[in-house]
Parts: sequence; C-alpha cells; structure tokens
Amino acid sequence: MSDIPVFRNYIAGEWKAAASGAVMENRNPSNRDEIIGRFAASDAEDVKQAVDAAAEAYKTWGKGSAIARANILHKAATILESRIPEIGRELSREEGKTLKEGIGETTRAVQILRYYAGEAQQPSGEHYPSMNPATLLYTVREPLGVCGIITPWNFPIAIPAWKIAPALAFGNTVVFKPASLTPLCAVRLVEALAEAGLPAGVLNLVTGSAGKVGDPLVKDDRVVAVSFTGSNEVGGELRKTMGARGGKLQLELGGKNPAIVLADADLDQALMHVVNGAMMSTGQKCTATSRAIVDRRIADAFTEKLAQRIASIRVGDPLDPDTQMGPLIDDKAADRVAGEVKTAKEQGVTHVFGGERLSGEERERGAFVAPALFTNVDPSSRLGQEELFGPVLGVIPADGLDEAVAIANQVRFGLSASIFTRDLATALIFAQQAEAGIVHVNSETAGAEPQVPFGGMKGSSSYSREQGKAAREFFTQTKTVYIDLPPVAK
Ligand code: NAP
Repeated sequence: MSDIPVFRNYIAGEWKAAASGAVMENRNPSNRDEIIGRFAASDAEDVKQAVDAAAEAYKTWGKGSAIARANILHKAATILESRIPEIGRELSREEGKTLKEGIGETTRAVQILRYYAGEAQQPSGEHYPSMNPATLLYTVREPLGVCGIITPWNFPIAIPAWKIAPALAFGNTVVFKPASLTPLCAVRLVEALAEAGLPAGVLNLVTGSAGKVGDPLVKDDRVVAVSFTGSNEVGGELRKTMGARGGKLQLELGGKNPAIVLADADLDQALMHVVNGAMMSTGQKCTATSRAIVDRRIADAFTEKLAQRIASIRVGDPLDPDTQMGPLIDDKAADRVAGEVKTAKEQGVTHVFGGERLSGEERERGAFVAPALFTNVDPSSRLGQEELFGPVLGVIPADGLDEAVAIANQVRFGLSASIFTRDLATALIFAQQAEAGIVHVNSETAGAEPQVPFGGMKGSSSYSREQGKAAREFFTQTKTVYIDLPPVAK
C-alpha cells in the first residue's frame, strides 16, 4: 500500500473526495521525486456542492452573533499556533521557502486569525445626526453572502488566512479554492477552523485546477463576491466575468517594486534590505524588490557590495537551517526565470551574474536557480518593467531624487516602494510622490504588518485594500436605517 497521504475537499462540514474520484499530486519543489500528497482534483460538481452548502449555511451564520464568530476564530488561532512547527515545515516542503520563512508565515496566519477575532467585536456602524431631531439615524455593516476566495501559491497559508478570517468574522460564508501547487497549507488552515467549531457549510474547501474549480466558482451567480490574489492576466479575466454578472471583486495582483538608494543613505542598512527584499522567498513575493534605483554617484560601489552579498547566498534545501534561499515553486517557473535572464543578456543588459538553473546532484532534483544581478538596466526595458517573480535584481542608476522617483513610478504596477535616506524631508517627499499603496523608508519593500491596510495602486490592485480594518470595506455592505417614532397618542 502507498504511504502517500490523501487529502480531501471540505464541503458541508465533511471531508470528502472529488465527486468524480479524480486526484492530483503535489510535489516538493526541492525534490520533484517526493510526492507530498494526493488531493481532490475537483470539478464543477464539487464547486456546486460547496456553493450549495455555503448558501445554506449563510442563512444562519450571517445572522448570528459576531461574538460567537470571534470565539471560533480565537480558538482556530490557538489550534493553529499549537501546530506551527509542523505546518511551517510542511509549508517549506510544499512551497520551497526556507524553514524560517515557513514558520514565520504560519505564525503570521495565527496573528491574522487573532486580529480578526478582535475585529469581529468592533463597532460595525455609525450613528448620525438627522434633520429631524426625533429620528434615530444610523448605519450597519452587513455581510455580503457567499464569498469565493481564490489564492496564489506564494503565501499559501497567510493569504488564505487574511481573506478567509475577515470574510467569516463579518458574517459571510466561504468557498475557498487554493492554488493547485499548495493545497496542503490550505487543508491545514481549514482543519484548524473546522476543529474550532465552524458550523457545517460556513467554510468549504475545493481543491483542483483553475479551469475546473476556479472558473465555475467565479461564474456561479450565488457567489456574490470574489477576493482574488494572483497574476494580472487572471485578474483581467475575472474583471470581465465578475463585471458581466455584477459581482463584487477584489484583486491583489503583481508588482515591480523599487528600492531607491540615495547617496546619503546608511549603505549597510540599504544593502541588507535591498538584498532581503529581492531574494527572500526566492524573489517570489508580490512585494519583492526587483529594481534598485541607485544614485549614480554611488551606483558602482553599491552594485559591488550587492554582488558580494548576493553571491554569498546559500541556495539549497529549505529544510536545511543553513539555507538562505530555496527553489522556485516548480520547474516551469525556474525555466521561465532562467529564460528571462538569458533573453536580457542577449538584449545586451549588463549581467553581473546568476539566473541559470543550478546543477549538481541535489539541486538538479529541484527547481533551483542562482540569484541574479543585472546593472545599468534601462528603466523602459522588459527587465525594468515586467514582474519576473524570481530572484532577479536590476540596478538602475539615477541622477538624484527627482529622476529616481520618476523611474520608480514609470511602471504599470504600484504595490510597494522603498527609499533609503537619512534626510527627513526627502523621505516625506518620497512618501507623497511614490505611486504605491505601501511606502517604506529605510526598510525593505516586502515588509507588511497585518493590522494595517495592504494593497497596491495602479495595475497592482482593484483600488481595494486587504488586511487591517480595510477588510471590512470589502467583506460587508452598508445599510442606512432611519427610525422615526409613530405619533404618541394623547
Ligand atoms: P495565478 O496563476 O493568477 O493564480 C492565482 C490563483 O488563481 C490560483 O489559485 C489559480 O489556480 C487561480 N486561477 C487561475 N486562473 C483562473 C481563472 N481563470 N479563474 C479562476 N481562478 C483562476 O497566480 P500565481 O502564479 O498563483 O501567483 C503569482 C502572482 O500572484 C504574481 O503575479 C504575484 O505578484 C501575485 N501576488 C500578488 C499579491 C498581492 O497581494 N498583490 C500577493 C501574492 C501574489 P491554479 O493554481 O489551479 O492555477
């Protein structure tokens, strides 16, 4: 008998195989010979059952007590917290980020569940003065109904947590379709919430492909809202589908995030944050630094320091405590990144090193790519404009703040942006002028805390924000209530 674990969908409070019985395999990106598990390869029938269950559960969950919802989220946080070491490890095996990052991300998911347990208990409306002093005039935020949650593989437990927790906290029910490359983390999150006592049908997990699960989910009219994080291409498709049927849609998409390094910066601080921003999680963060826009006067010296630091990154098995960078998510992604690097070199971009698939016995078994550095990158070139989603950093020299900011803003994305300077006025000007939803001064583009809004400007988002109190905006709708008393009988 095979000892490969089998995982099922969670629909109407039961763990069940896909209606068709089909399964899909999930492999370790560090070692493609290792099968992590077999998961339900679901289709439209499973999606229908999940939406049926969520619609039925909404009748009571949506009208229930916010305090009871908070208690369940608190309990789920405690359950998940007790499993951080093993889930963090599974996350690293499944996604490829280092063990430290896997544990850090799982810990973040716990914080998010706790945060929304608290948010569920916050005031959910406002009291207004009325023209008529006898009128009681107020608003309440009510849930939307059944929400579809579609998530990417790069934060396989934190992103699902930061969508599902507020959706549930504010009274919605959920059908969750995780990325096909990271279904195990999705199962672990849903297990914690189910064990915490969520009533049947409130949260439903359906694993399977974009076409067979994602597509029927976004096309089901009973799914009144979809929160999606992923690529701009898929985001564009969802805009059309949801727009045509009038559903509410939240998109969190790609980035091409700049870090500006000015001549007055503390260069050691800048170096550490630019390298971490570019290379942690193998460059596969939507907020990763992919452009270092460096004052021309220090560009050569700073590039040299970058080269030394990046060349020393230890690439290997994410479970080895000495590893600083794991593989990409799969061979397709590794070949794509290596191909982009090759093309940039052929186009004459100054290549310092890196970007090739790594050889050697252990590395050949996984999706490993050497971290890459380019310099003198033309800001309008492909390398200067497009999200490569891998460990590739391009240095762009600039003459002073104005040109650096102009280059930083000269992309279709606007997720996160950093500046390194000791000058307060420069920092404030940058904070005003950066076309980015998240601005950092003297820290990396990829830092984000869960209690504040998260999201991008321009092509990086749909003008909505996730996390913090902002999540209530998306996952609720406003009702305005006028209460006038009947005339008092004399
Ligand atoms: P993706 O290919 O767009 O997939 C994201 C999710 O959408 C997956 O669950 C995928 O399913 C599903 N999907 C794909 N096509 C669909 C369709 N037509 N209908 C419904 N669902 C569909 O993105 P990814 O490669 O997983 O993630 C990388 C991208 O996410 C990058 O661009 C990154 O910048 C972005 N990202 C953004 C943020 C942010 O907050 N702004 C955060 C993290 C990542 P399958 O897995 O089955 O294909």
